[in-house]
Amino acid sequence: MLLGPGETLLRGEYAIVRSADGPAPAVGAEGVLYLTSQRVIFEVPVPRGLAGALRGGRGTRTALEAPIATLRGAAVVRRRLGRERLAIETDRLRATFDVLQPSAWAHAIATARRAGPPAAERPVERIHTIERQVVKVRCRYCGALGNEVDGRCPSCGAPL
Ligand SMILES: [Zn+2]
Repeated sequence: MLLGPGETLLRGEYAIVRSADGPAPAVGAEGVLYLTSQRVIFEVPVPRGLAGALRGGRGTRTALEAPIATLRGAAVVRRRLGRERLAIETDRLRATFDVLQPSAWAHAIATARRAGPPAAERPVERIHTIERQVVKVRCRYCGALGNEVDGRCPSCGAPL
């Protein structure tokens, strides 16, 4: 994901598409959902083929890109059974995502819409951990390095 001039990354997290209307990513698609000061983006990994191996690094494809200005809204969908989901709606599409904290996403998107670019970056609280001898693995969704024993990507939360 490339940031434009004056654009800041506000959130990024592993997400799964649970419903889609219009030109939205396919149901079941897994990737990383990003919120920047200007856009909502959903990136999915591209299967590693020969071309990817030659190019090196990981490949991702932008499955959804919605400028903040085109967003009609972001809301938490509450269902009688199962987890809460994040619903994103533009004038062209509507999609719901499984994310860890749907309400935090909806709030962050609403704040970004009100603020307009450039939005202020919030300080991130960091948890200090004791370093151990562990195997590092690269997340296939966002490329961050994580500890194999943790089982989840420290950056986006995807299963490692
Ligand atoms: Zn990740």
